[in-house]
Amino acid sequence: MELHKGSLYWPTTYKAPHRNKPAKIADCYDAVIVGGGMSGALTALSLLDRGYQIAILDKRRFASGSTSANTGLLQYSNDIMLHELIEQIGEKDAVNFYRSCKISVEKIKEVADRLPVDPHFIFRDSIYYASDGQDAERLEREYRTLVKYDFPCIFWDRETLLNKAGIDRPCAIVTHRDAEVNPYIFVNGIFNLAEAMGAHLFEYTEMVDVNDAGDKLTILTSSGDMMTKNIIFTTGYETLPIGKRIGADMNRSYVIVTEPLKELPAWYNDALIWETKRPYLYMRTTADRRIIIGGLDEDKGKMEITDRWIKMRGNELRNSFKNLFPDLELEVDYAYCATFGESIDNLPFIGEHPNRKKHYYLLGYGGNGTVYSMLGAEMLADKLCEIENPASHIVQLTRMTETGKKKMIL
Ligand SMILES: Cc1cc2nc3c(=O)[nH]c(=O)nc-3n(C[C@H](O)[C@H](O)[C@H](O)COP(=O)(O)OP(=O)(O)OC[C@H]3O[C@@H](n4cnc5c(N)ncnc54)[C@H](O)[C@@H]3O)c2cc1C
Repeated sequence: MELHKGSLYWPTTYKAPHRNKPAKIADCYDAVIVGGGMSGALTALSLLDRGYQIAILDKRRFASGSTSANTGLLQYSNDIMLHELIEQIGEKDAVNFYRSCKISVEKIKEVADRLPVDPHFIFRDSIYYASDGQDAERLEREYRTLVKYDFPCIFWDRETLLNKAGIDRPCAIVTHRDAEVNPYIFVNGIFNLAEAMGAHLFEYTEMVDVNDAGDKLTILTSSGDMMTKNIIFTTGYETLPIGKRIGADMNRSYVIVTEPLKELPAWYNDALIWETKRPYLYMRTTADRRIIIGGLDEDKGKMEITDRWIKMRGNELRNSFKNLFPDLELEVDYAYCATFGESIDNLPFIGEHPNRKKHYYLLGYGGNGTVYSMLGAEMLADKLCEIENPASHIVQLTRMTETGKKKMIL
C-alpha cells in the first residue's frame, strides 16, 4: 500500500541513523510491536519505562510511513466537537475523552524533553475559525461547552479575529496549550532513546503471521521467528496483517510546504489555524519559517495519483490560503498526497482483540492521530500492567455503532 506520494518535507530536516538489527533475537519478548511509526515509538517508550523487554519491527524504515507525512499539529480539540461528542457518547465519556487528549499533549511534551535530539516541540494556541455564518452558532455552542468543562480557550468575534489574526471570518475559538512538533525527528529521537534503553529494533522486517503457542505467541517475520507474550499492532493505515478493519474509511489528503519566508506579517503568535468546514483547511509554521498547509481530503477512489494531480491539488491549497491571507505570496517547495484513515465515529481504536488473546491494536485514525498515539501508548502499557485506565472503554475495539452492529476490528 502506498502511504504517501510526492515530495515530503520532514525527512529533509533530519538524517535518520542506520539502525542495526540485534545480534541475537531474545528467547521470548514481553511484547513485540509491529509498526515503527508514531504509535509504535510511543508505545515502545511507555513499555520500556515499565521495564518490559520489547522488539519493534517495521517493513520499511522507522518513521517513513504516515508519520513522515504528518503535519505535526497537536490539539486537545478533535475533529468532532466536544458538544457533538457529548451527543454521541454521553457527557461523562466525552469530557473524559477530551481531558485525556489534553493530558496527552502535555505528555508528548514530557517525551520531547527526554529525547537526545530536538523535535521542535512548541506550545501554541490554535485558532479554530467558523468557515461561514452557519457555523458561527455551532462554534459559539462549542465555546460554551469547552468553558463549562474548564478547557483553556477564549472566543473572538469577527472584529477581534480580523484585528488580531488578519482573518476575515465570522468568529473563532482560540484554544490554549496546543502544540506543534516535527514528527519525523520526534519519532526518530524516540527510537534513538529506545535503543539506548535496550529495545531490539528491526527495520525492513515484515510481520507475516502469528501462531498461538500455549501462553506465548510465535511471530513469523521476514527476519526470522520470534516468541513473545504479547503482540501490539501499530500498523497505521496499512491493511492489517491480522484481523479485519471494519469501522474506518481510507481517504487521501494533500499538503504543501512553502519555501522559507522572510516574515509572516499577520500570523498571530505562530498559532495553528483550522476551520469548521469539512474537509477542513489547516496550517502552521515551521522552525525554518515555512508554512505548511493541508486539506482537500477526498475519497480514495480508483484514480491513480500522478505528479500533475498533486501539483494541481497543491495549487488549490495555495489558492485557499490566499483566500484567507490575500497579501501573502507563497512559493511551494514540497507537495504531497497521503493516505488518511478516519474511523466512522471519530474515535481511535485502542485495546485488545475480542477473540485473540494478547493481540493489541493502536490505530489512531483521525486528524488528531498523534494525540491518539500518546493516549493509546499509555492505555496499552496500563493494560499490560493490569492497571485500570478510565478512558479505555471509550476507544475499545468492540464498541458498537448506533445501529448496534459490532464494528472496528474482527
Ligand atoms: C497528510 C497527513 C497529515 C496529518 N497531520 C496530522 C497532524 O497534524 N496531527 C496529528 O496528530 N496527526 C496527523 N496525521 C495523522 C498521523 O500522521 C497519523 O496518526 C500517524 O502518522 C499514525 O502513526 P502510526 O504509527 O499509526 O502509522 P505509520 O507512521 O504509518 O506507522 C505504521 C508503520 O507500520 C508499518 N507496517 C505496516 N504493516 C506492517 C507489517 N506487516 N510488518 C511490519 N511493519 C508494518 C509501516 O511500514 C509503517 O511504517 C496526519 C496524517 C496525514 C496523512
